[in-house]
Amino acid sequence: NHIKKYFPISGGIFKHTVGHVKAVDDVSLKISKGETLGIVGESGSGKSTLGRVILRLLEPTEGEILFENNDISYLGNRKLRDYRKNMQIVFQDPFASLNSKMSVGELIEEPLLVQSSASKSERKEKSVELLEKVGLRASDRMKYPHEFSGGQRQRISIARALALHPKFIICDEPVSALDVSIQAQVLNLMADLQDEFNLTYLFIAHDLSVVKHISDRVAVMYLGRIAETAPKNSLYKNPLHPYTQALLSSIPSTDTRNHRGKIKLSGDLPSPANPPSGCAFRTRCSYAHDRCSMERPELKHYGNGHYVACHLYDDTTT
Ligand code: SF4
Ligand code: MG
Repeated sequence: NHIKKYFPISGGIFKHTVGHVKAVDDVSLKISKGETLGIVGESGSGKSTLGRVILRLLEPTEGEILFENNDISYLGNRKLRDYRKNMQIVFQDPFASLNSKMSVGELIEEPLLVQSSASKSERKEKSVELLEKVGLRASDRMKYPHEFSGGQRQRISIARALALHPKFIICDEPVSALDVSIQAQVLNLMADLQDEFNLTYLFIAHDLSVVKHISDRVAVMYLGRIAETAPKNSLYKNPLHPYTQALLSSIPSTDTRNHRGKIKLSGDLPSPANPPSGCAFRTRCSYAHDRCSMERPELKHYGNGHYVACHLYDDTTT
């Protein structure tokens, strides 16, 4: 609820704080049990920072984080540990996120060693079971990360994330570093595991095509704020925000009914240290009008769970 994460910028000869990067600037989201919420935005939109704040890997500047109705925003480390078992993250880069000096068995068993009372034989049994669940072999326990392909390494990361039976997993661009041909396999695996273990996902991606199949709802972020959020079908069929429309028109469509012309995003993402006044998207928006530079559009309800932050809809939202 109302999460803000500001990073101080230091400058001058005394390295004092001269401003802030508003990486996440007042974001509220609710994710229901068993649901997948996709979060999409360009790099610099604040989506990964938001994910880390939700897990308390980064401290929020403001706002609260509720897990099963418990406020975990300011829990100390010891209490937080109990929650950490329930919440895991799978990172984008399976090359950097797996310690290359540990065997696959050690990697998967480490969370059990640190955070459970499982015996050595129980840990081994569990890692074998998890390896098989993610489509690897029991004998892979003895190998090291470098012996695997990118897709296989991401399977190892997923097995490790599952070791403590989490309820909620943040998937931070888990397939972005993989070959396109492998992406679908890993996404399918994640969808299967979600059903099997009744997992709830927050799935972060930089393009709308990746989250299309796996998400129930999608939120589009721009410069630290949510531009639009809606149930999946509503978002893809009837994107309201000019930014969402531009993102969608840039994915190749096989749907012949989709005659929407290509909308080009002009210019780069402005710096989150110095965002435009009013609507942050106005410097790239072809519908920008006077009001857009003066007043920041709030996220408002358009109907049926579809929310948009854009002055074009002021008459049709509540
Ligand atoms: Fe474009 Fe204005 Fe809507 Fe922002 S508020 S997206 S600038 S029309
Ligand atoms: Mg990221």
